[in-house]
Amino acid sequence: PPSAPRNVSFSLIGTQLNLWWQPPSDHGGRKDLTYTVFCQRCHFLSCEPCEAGVIFSPSASGLTKPAVDVDGLEAYTNYTFAVEARNGVSGMGPAPQRTAPAVWVAVGHAAPVTVSQFVLTQRDDSSLSVSWLAPRQRSRTSVEYEVMFFEKGEEARYTVKHLLEPNVTLTDLQPDTAYLLRVRSITPLGPGPYSPEQEFRTLPPDTGALSGGVIVTIIFGVLLFIGLLLGLFIFCRKQGRRRQARPDYNTSGFDREKVWLKPYVDLQPYDDPSRGVLEFTKELNVSCVTMENVIGEGEFGEVYRGSLRLPGKERIVVAIKTLKSTYSDSQWWNFLREATIMGQFNHPNIVRLEGVVTKRRPMMIITEYMENGALDTFLRENEEKFSPVQLVSMLQGIASGMTYLSEHNYVHRDLAARNILVTRSLQCKVSDFGLSRILENDAEGTYETKGGKIPIRWTAPEAIAHRIFTSASDVWSFGIVMWEVLSFGDKPYGNMTNQE
Ligand code: AMP
Repeated sequence: PPSAPRNVSFSLIGTQLNLWWQPPSDHGGRKDLTYTVFCQRCHFLSCEPCEAGVIFSPSASGLTKPAVDVDGLEAYTNYTFAVEARNGVSGMGPAPQRTAPAVWVAVGHAAPVTVSQFVLTQRDDSSLSVSWLAPRQRSRTSVEYEVMFFEKGEEARYTVKHLLEPNVTLTDLQPDTAYLLRVRSITPLGPGPYSPEQEFRTLPPDTGALSGGVIVTIIFGVLLFIGLLLGLFIFCRKQGRRRQARPDYNTSGFDREKVWLKPYVDLQPYDDPSRGVLEFTKELNVSCVTMENVIGEGEFGEVYRGSLRLPGKERIVVAIKTLKSTYSDSQWWNFLREATIMGQFNHPNIVRLEGVVTKRRPMMIITEYMENGALDTFLRENEEKFSPVQLVSMLQGIASGMTYLSEHNYVHRDLAARNILVTRSLQCKVSDFGLSRILENDAEGTYETKGGKIPIRWTAPEAIAHRIFTSASDVWSFGIVMWEVLSFGDKPYGNMTNQE
């Protein structure tokens, strides 16, 4: 049998993946080499075979060329792809099948797709209701639709509507008139192409002449409607009385609507924290990491800008958090905890972990590099340079990251502009998962010292008074962050003391 294929690489555009690799160094002395590609869909560490919707071109097995296109992947989902080389004697002898190390592909936003299959669901003399086939989506992809329509022959006088659902009702139209309509889908990657024009016609005007049968039907209809209204009125009064008798204490609104996703795994259950880290992070070979210059001082030690070059991959710029040589037990534990937690998250508004170095000193946490650094300093240095729309879009990013964390039952406890990092394109990402600063030094007095440290100005009253930290108290902190952002990094509550 042949040896394993080498250097499996990929490129990803939206949800379309192209995989390629180099042939095995040993063909087994035969000419009948083929490849089989195995796809798995992963959620944290549990993986299952990809569904039938994932389509391989030309196919997943029997490939003679070292490349394959993969379509039908889901947005915001992780996949692994492994490639095996076979020939006519594979599986016949004791020699093991040889598969190249699997590549891990994290799919982000979906690319917009062309909208098709329009159906006229309802029409009268002044309106048209049309629906179309939504692109296949099983995950939380944010897709909206743009509908452009105009009277036939009047293209210059078009109207545009934006919709969240794959259907539209056009109203105030002319009777017995043809309208042309084009639709395109828009995802965070931008708009897709417009669909071909679809023509729909409104009904001729109603003449007003009603037959005897129609009049009888209308009378019955009106009576039935009045009866229904009466019934509804009585029902609502009864319900109202019942509710007054038994007040609803669940006012948070959190539990009822919460989407249950797998909660993150913390480090506490592990006797040996290094084992926890191994499960959720990638241990990098220190020779792949180059440290360049110091960009910040974290609780654990210096933070560097640097680069990471993984075998077979392009060099990328990264941030490298180091653990100083004089670390205490609690610093070591929190350092590993930050990496373990970060390694379980995958969201465009959460700082991405590239890997860790724990087997050599100094220990390192390597993350994506955020060109504009911490949000509070960035805003102070760029006061009045951003429009309200830009500021609100930063907040929207933070809200999106925090929603993701709360869906995984992770309570941040220290959401503040200083713990948000900003990319070159002003995308904001939540960082700081170690709680370290809460437990360690705090020269600025941000974290109150008595009875366990708490970032007083950012913390909800029930969390200060009773130490009840929940997603709801994170929402309070988000309110403070909104204030920080809109005031270009001012200190919340100005010169008041923490006590005040
Ligand atoms: P931290 O210990 O996470 O608070 O990091 C200390 C400082 O290092 C931050 O305030 C940032 O200025 C900088 N820093 C940390 N992580 C990154 C990153 N991923 N990209 C750029 N700068 C970072």
